[in-house]
Amino acid sequence: MPIGSAQVRSQSVPDAPSARLKGRTYSGISQAKSLSKSSSNSSARPFAYREAKATKNTSLYCGKHSLAALAKRYGTPLYIYSADQILERLALFQEALIGRSHLVCYAVKANSALAILKLLASEGAGFDIVSGGELQRVLTAAPEAAGRVVFSGVGKTAEEIDQALGADILAFNVESEAELTLLASRAAKRKRKARFALRVNPDVFAETHPYISTGLREHKFGIDIRQARRIYNEAKGNRWLTAYGVSVHIGSQIRSAEPFGAAMERVAKLVRELARDGIAIQSVDAGGGLGIDYHAAPSFDPAAKVQEYAAALTTALGDLNLTLLLEPGRFLVAQAGALLARVLYVKHNGKKTFVVTDTGMNDLIRPALYQAYHEIVPVTPRGGRATVVDIVGPVCETGDFFARDRKIKPVEPGDLVAILDAGAYGMVQTSNYNTRPRPAEVLLHGPDATLIRRRETMADLLGPELAAL
Ligand code: PLP
Repeated sequence: MPIGSAQVRSQSVPDAPSARLKGRTYSGISQAKSLSKSSSNSSARPFAYREAKATKNTSLYCGKHSLAALAKRYGTPLYIYSADQILERLALFQEALIGRSHLVCYAVKANSALAILKLLASEGAGFDIVSGGELQRVLTAAPEAAGRVVFSGVGKTAEEIDQALGADILAFNVESEAELTLLASRAAKRKRKARFALRVNPDVFAETHPYISTGLREHKFGIDIRQARRIYNEAKGNRWLTAYGVSVHIGSQIRSAEPFGAAMERVAKLVRELARDGIAIQSVDAGGGLGIDYHAAPSFDPAAKVQEYAAALTTALGDLNLTLLLEPGRFLVAQAGALLARVLYVKHNGKKTFVVTDTGMNDLIRPALYQAYHEIVPVTPRGGRATVVDIVGPVCETGDFFARDRKIKPVEPGDLVAILDAGAYGMVQTSNYNTRPRPAEVLLHGPDATLIRRRETMADLLGPELAAL
């Protein structure tokens, strides 16, 4: 039985028009190809229990891949990702926007594995980056995608701007007047025009964790939308700046489409005002932020969510004929990933039972950082009654837990557990705290399992310091 499944309806795909961006043509045709490939039986998660042929034990699989076999081969802790699900999710966005010029710019920050960037680029995705390092990743994995990159972030340095101008990216999402001034001067120096969008702050409230809410005036992100018209007009006279778009991003893990629509209505109003000022905006960037269901209720239907989201945006845009950029991160990769860990000890302290695993908050910080919920399941369930336990890691912090007072099937030392929905903001936020090497990563694509990042060694960790001894 799939874990948290919801059927995705299969839909017929009409021919898509081409979207012209920066002199390159992105045809909807390759998008349609991936779509028909994907829309048959997608579920919220790509993991399901099956009976292992050899042992007749029920065990967790991703497609044809036994998680127990992967753990044996690559060790634990181990991140595993389903490439098939990532592509299905990308296709959902592309399908929802067929008939409208659009580009899905995957938010690299969610999971920046080179192999995942390459995979997404191969299906026509662009990228949203927030640092020179992320640009370097895109250029390494998919140099042909440079012209599909948008650069967000409140603290771009002159060096990063130069690097992005050199790569001839699609657009800079500018977050302050000072940054626009710097962009103009770097562009002039290089004698290269810079396409920019002001990232406006629409002052829209979106229900999510306060640490990942970004669309209110009190947040550090973007430019107050009331100032944007003046700034666009002032930039008009600068020959090194091209007002390419308007961008907005109101936060992450937002479950309702409504705030996205509200923010886009404000952006659309600004675009119309700019048109009256003689500034022809070519694109609007709706940012990322569409949330998943970490509890994977059976009613969670990823395809319906994306359709609802796309409808909210396109309704808000009305008759504006612009290229719509989207920057989804979590929705594309979160549910495709799991963190596999082995149980080291089961220990009883008074009334509490602690399941101590070999993975810790340095490998997945979301529960400690945002009190995030992750479902945790035994890979090969044992019989017996479920009990209430804390599932914790070996790191010397009380905050090093994955679940508190959680009812799970019995586990014993040596058993494997899978922490689900760990594909986004997992590996990218790992650290070497407690001098722990980072996990390995494996990408599953159809019958293939590829090690896309080897486990770190102590030489990797100590290397940068050895010269000082
Ligand atoms: N775009 C920008 C500017 C962001 O800051 C983020 C993340 O916060 C994203 C896109 C991706 O958000 P999500 O992973 O929630 O889709």
